[in-house]
Amino acid sequence: MQTYLRLLGFARPLLRFMVPYLIFTMFSTVFSLVNLSLLIPLLDILFQDEAKAMPSAPPDFALNFNYPLDLFYYYLDVIVLSYGKFGAIQYVCATLVISVFLSNIFRYLSVRVVEYLRAQTIENLRGQLFDQLTRLHLGFFSKKNRGDIMARLTTDVLEIEHSITKSLFTLFKEPLVMGIFFTALFQVSVKLTMFTIFVIPISGLGISYIVRRLRTYATRSQQSASVTTGIYDETLTGMRVIKAFNGEPYMRDKFSRENGHYARVIRRMANTKELASPFSEFMGVSTVALILLYGGNLVLNSPDELSPSQFIFYIALFSQILSPAKSFSVAISNIQRSLISGMRVFELLDAVPDIQVKEPSKPLTHFEEGIRFENVYFRYEEDWTLEDVNFHLEKGKSIALVGPSGSGKSTIADLIPRFYDVEKGSIYLDGVNIKDYSLQDLRGLMGIVTQDPILFHDTIFNNIAFAHPGADMEQVVQAAKIANAHEFIMQKEEGYQTVIGDRGVLLSGGQRQRLAIARAVFKNPPILILDEATSSLDSKSEQVVQDALNKLMENRTSLIIAHRLSTIQDADEILVVDGGQIRERGKHESLLANREGIYARLNLRQFT
Ligand code: ADP
Repeated sequence: MQTYLRLLGFARPLLRFMVPYLIFTMFSTVFSLVNLSLLIPLLDILFQDEAKAMPSAPPDFALNFNYPLDLFYYYLDVIVLSYGKFGAIQYVCATLVISVFLSNIFRYLSVRVVEYLRAQTIENLRGQLFDQLTRLHLGFFSKKNRGDIMARLTTDVLEIEHSITKSLFTLFKEPLVMGIFFTALFQVSVKLTMFTIFVIPISGLGISYIVRRLRTYATRSQQSASVTTGIYDETLTGMRVIKAFNGEPYMRDKFSRENGHYARVIRRMANTKELASPFSEFMGVSTVALILLYGGNLVLNSPDELSPSQFIFYIALFSQILSPAKSFSVAISNIQRSLISGMRVFELLDAVPDIQVKEPSKPLTHFEEGIRFENVYFRYEEDWTLEDVNFHLEKGKSIALVGPSGSGKSTIADLIPRFYDVEKGSIYLDGVNIKDYSLQDLRGLMGIVTQDPILFHDTIFNNIAFAHPGADMEQVVQAAKIANAHEFIMQKEEGYQTVIGDRGVLLSGGQRQRLAIARAVFKNPPILILDEATSSLDSKSEQVVQDALNKLMENRTSLIIAHRLSTIQDADEILVVDGGQIRERGKHESLLANREGIYARLNLRQFT
């Protein structure tokens, strides 16, 4: 219920939609009722013989159900007497056309309101989800399965879109329609309607039993289908083992059992499904037969209570009530299904970003002194990933992190822009804890180039001037030149306006990396973080990229993670990380001097 109310919150302002919707629906129902009720005068005209006296004056105006009827009958009598029976039939038909026209106009208007509301609800929901997606911390995405997040964003939102908004209106509309119909039924005959209300639930019970059984079978068949798919998957991937261990008969037996089960469930489901239609028809007609029996008796024995034409109208009207009753029950089951989607979507919306900012934050416009790690501890899970990390990166200097893979180098780099927060200890920028700055200011000082350059499905221009749509072409070209990218960009047919495909698949690895560097040059940040920026390249493109990187690093403060030691020999300080701790530190030569040290061994491995 809570989930449902919250979903409705996205449909705000609900009343602005609900009121016109209900008004349109009411008019549309009333006019369709008029269509049906025209049966009565039509039958009366055809079957009544006695001539009536000319009515004296039209009925006095009154605001009730009978006034329009009286008015209609007044003119009908006038027309019968003046133009004969065929003239009257023409009159009834003209009224029918006008009323059908009006009822459909109102129905169209009411559907428009629903569609408007649906579009708005989904726009709100998607907007909030996307905002939340960009707000969440990086750790959230590494813990969650990407497919699961995608499913929440797409299938679940679609499910909500299709059922919640539509069903919502059905929940309000059908009772209203049924109410109007029942009022009309009561108007025709109170006795017969009381009788009808008594017999309807009998057939309803049987049908709802069938629907429930169908739902159980549907769930079971889904479960069984996923088990068989699992066996297929296991068999295909494990074919080598199955054959080597003579496991074919075992697997065949396992599959055949599940396959048989699936077939049984499907058979039962089909049987029940096929039963539904004859059963509901039988029950429906039986109900009508009971009503016919009782109503026919009324017509024969107390014609004052019910005339033959009214009785036919009654039956026609009754047949119209079944459809809103059915849509009402379908709406309820749809809502139940989409509530599950609603809960999954809210789980995502309610996730709290781990990275919190102190308010008010300290202003940060310049980078003056340096970055200092003091006794920093960090972990993703149980065990410490970083332990007691200390270093000071002075402005204008460069520090290189080296060490075996998995030792914690990237984690150190990720702590500086606060992709993750330290658990113990602190990181200071110009003497102030980085948690005191706003994330935007802090990250605004940094340019990051990673091993796997992230490019977007957009033009080269927009990829370099990322998040600055109004950027100056000259600055972009300048950045591309520094990054050794200008030449290859100009060789593309559309130059800077070339769209580079999903994640840049239309470019080579070196070209992608140079675009990522151009992006960092364009941003012109005082601090650079280079995370193995050249390690995925072949030696030829590595040289071009390294050259670009060297130009990028001029006059900046940089933290470099390097796989190849040759690229960091000139760093002002090299930190050797192993097992989450800094084991050695110093310049290239002094580290090499310690022949038993990790650095010297790493160096030996790379150059022999
Ligand atoms: P390096 O950059 O030196 O190769 P990382 O900093 O990437 O090392 O990783 C350090 C350790 O933390 C590794 O054991 C790695 O498995 C683990 N790790 C890295 N990222 C995550 C993450 N998002 N969630 C859990 N563990 C992680």
